[in-house]
Amino acid sequence: MTAPLRPRAALATHDVFNMPPHIGDRDLWAEDAALRDGVRREGAAWAEARIAAFGRLIGRAEMAEKAEQANRHGPALKPFDRYGMRIDRVEYHPAYHDLMALAVENEVASFAWNHAGPGAHVGHMALTYLISQVECGVMCSMAMTYAAVPALRASPAIAEAWVPRVLSNRYDGRDVPVEDKSGGAIGMFMTEKQGGSDVRSNSTRARPADGAADGSWRLVGHKYFCSAPMSDAFLTLARTEAGISCFLLPRWTPDGARNAISIHHLKDKLGNRSNASVEIELEDAWAVMVGEDGRGIRTIIDMVQGNRLYCAVSSAALMREGVAQALHHTRHRSAFQRRLADQPLMRNVLADLALEAEAALALGLRVARAVDEAGADRQARALARIGTAIAKYWVCKRAPGHAFEALECHGGPGYIEDGPMARLYREAPLNSIWEGSGNVLCLDVLRAMARDEDAAPALLAELDAARGGHPALDRAADALRDDLSRPEAFEPGARTLTERMALALQASLLVRHAPAAVADAFCAGRLGARWTGAYGTLPPATDTDAILARALPAG
Ligand SMILES: Cc1cc2nc3c(=O)[nH]c(=O)nc-3n(C[C@H](O)[C@H](O)[C@H](O)COP(=O)(O)OP(=O)(O)OC[C@H]3O[C@@H](n4cnc5c(N)ncnc54)[C@H](O)[C@@H]3O)c2cc1C
Repeated sequence: MTAPLRPRAALATHDVFNMPPHIGDRDLWAEDAALRDGVRREGAAWAEARIAAFGRLIGRAEMAEKAEQANRHGPALKPFDRYGMRIDRVEYHPAYHDLMALAVENEVASFAWNHAGPGAHVGHMALTYLISQVECGVMCSMAMTYAAVPALRASPAIAEAWVPRVLSNRYDGRDVPVEDKSGGAIGMFMTEKQGGSDVRSNSTRARPADGAADGSWRLVGHKYFCSAPMSDAFLTLARTEAGISCFLLPRWTPDGARNAISIHHLKDKLGNRSNASVEIELEDAWAVMVGEDGRGIRTIIDMVQGNRLYCAVSSAALMREGVAQALHHTRHRSAFQRRLADQPLMRNVLADLALEAEAALALGLRVARAVDEAGADRQARALARIGTAIAKYWVCKRAPGHAFEALECHGGPGYIEDGPMARLYREAPLNSIWEGSGNVLCLDVLRAMARDEDAAPALLAELDAARGGHPALDRAADALRDDLSRPEAFEPGARTLTERMALALQASLLVRHAPAAVADAFCAGRLGARWTGAYGTLPPATDTDAILARALPAG
């Protein structure tokens, strides 16, 4: 543990007081009761020691400092070397590489596959949640690498070569062929200029390579959003005579040459600045097909599903960080002769933020458990499918407003880049946009119900498990059951429907598993007729003492 920083408080004209101390080292596991309960409840108790150790490690002040540096000194594109040769290299600050190494060594990209079995995805998502509280830029690579595994397995020869690289716990950030590295990372190139949500409009073309004995293809076209472009290979979509197909596109070809992937420029993003996102052209690039010709969307959809669960859990992590920072600040700041955290209206806001964060985490871990159980259980498979879409939509949609409120709890300093809140605020909308933006997710909820007769029953079974726990939840569940029996005219109301599903699911989890103060306040606040979505509007009877003591022990 490093000693807390002690800046000089006596200045020439005044002493500095009524300012919070630096938050210093934190133990992100020990201070998070909802995480501890969730990990144990959803089947990953066996991984507790690993997750706890990671929570202590990633909570150190030094990690927050590295995250700050990696974002402040973002990546730079180096398209050519000194002799004018194309290298299309993106260079990162050393702090980015340090955080990547830390993540890879702690299996943030590989835990679910390296420890396959009950609780594996729950444990994986717990690690995701811990590091996402500190830095989300490196998580883009972690999430895509994790989520690529099921798609890679669609072609046994590709899986044999690539899955061991992806599951390695050794980070190797060098720009060299993957055969010479101790581990590999995977990215995903789907989005093109004319269509991101609608990938069927992809225009990149693929043709079998002339006379190639290796069964390879050549790709010509562009991709408009390509994150983590120094990954070792990318899953991408291109059009063959059979239709849209999925390809593995390595950054280096097997004969040791740079693949014909030209990076045009780095995108200047609102947030997520430690992570590079680029535009590229594929100029007869070497690739191999993954899965069946013409069935590329089917092949890559498993990757998309994994990324969507990541987005939901990562947004829960942003909320958690907002709650921790807001509580720290308001517990050390006074106004009108009273600590902010003791003032009734501020307590309402803080408690409301804490409820949102706990409900978001509970939903993410419940869906992760369904993913763990999906192989052997039909109902779990259905819940994993529809629950991922519901969680991705709702948790990611709530995150920007949550970040804003947590920022506002800091007053003016919240808006200043010196602290963590401004970065958190800029990060918050992204999970809602990539991997399917809000409307697309709500339409996916409808699609899940239309294609899988088990989807709605799996959702309702979750709600039934909490029946009798709170009258507002019983009413919400009954109304949903009624509406789900008449699915014809859902499309214009898909957001309302998905929101109702998400709130009912979250409420059912809290009613069953959280302390009564948390569950009652969530049901009374969120399921009541008067809820507008604004924070700080919990009913006056809310037990804010209990909610805030659970959210973060007073330090
Ligand atoms: C920082 C960043 C990094 C990214 N990295 C990657 C990456 O590495 N790889 C990659 O492939 N992509 C990446 N993306 C792209 C991202 O996945 C897409 O931007 C996203 O899927 C939306 O596609 P689009 O931008 O083309 O928007 P559009 O498809 O044009 O959608 C615009 C809006 O219309 C809505 N909409 C679409 N269809 C419907 C409908 N039928 N009914 C109602 N509303 C609808 C959407 O929800 C959205 O709100 C990245 C994006 C960002 C911002």
